[in-house]
Amino acid sequence: MKIVKVPQLIQYLFPSIIWKGKTDEKILHLTFDDSPTPEFTFWILNLLEKLNIKATFFCVGESTEKYPKIILSILDKGHQIGNHTYSHKNGFLSSTKSYLHNIERCKKILPNTTLFRPPFGKIYPWQISKIKENYKIVMWDIVSYDFHKNITEEKVKSNVLNNVENGSIIVFHDNKKSKKILKLCLEEILQNLIKKGYRFKTI
Ligand SMILES: [Zn+2]
Repeated sequence: MKIVKVPQLIQYLFPSIIWKGKTDEKILHLTFDDSPTPEFTFWILNLLEKLNIKATFFCVGESTEKYPKIILSILDKGHQIGNHTYSHKNGFLSSTKSYLHNIERCKKILPNTTLFRPPFGKIYPWQISKIKENYKIVMWDIVSYDFHKNITEEKVKSNVLNNVENGSIIVFHDNKKSKKILKLCLEEILQNLIKKGYRFKTI
């Protein structure tokens, strides 16, 4: 299995990116990528409401245009929203100009956020230096691998529960690929973290 925890060295090499909150308290940051998804976002919102957790949703501009009401529900429940490009663009396959243009296009639809997360976590240093002029770039230190084709719910659970630390930023996905596995295990993961004394805050 791939690395669940982002190595310290990578975090050190890219200090202008937020990988993890700095805190001695038992605080975690829950994040969802690829929102909004008509068949899944509301399920997540209901669960978070039940557990009284606030999270950050990194939204794709194109889907936001199609489902603006879902975005309004996310905001209405007190969650935070971030820019995840207009068309879920891969930074490694894009010129800086077209990448920045794609982020701007998303900004036209989601103007009130200063948070940005690159799709696939793929972004070049020269793209970072431009984007950070206008955004806080938020990555993660804990990858659940909820999107992985052959992952089991046990593995998603242990990826998160065995690796979180104070301040961890955890990434899950609000998309079709992750829906099935998360419906089976997300509640148990979150209940477990609450039992361990963790609280959740937005970024
Ligand atoms: Zn994504």
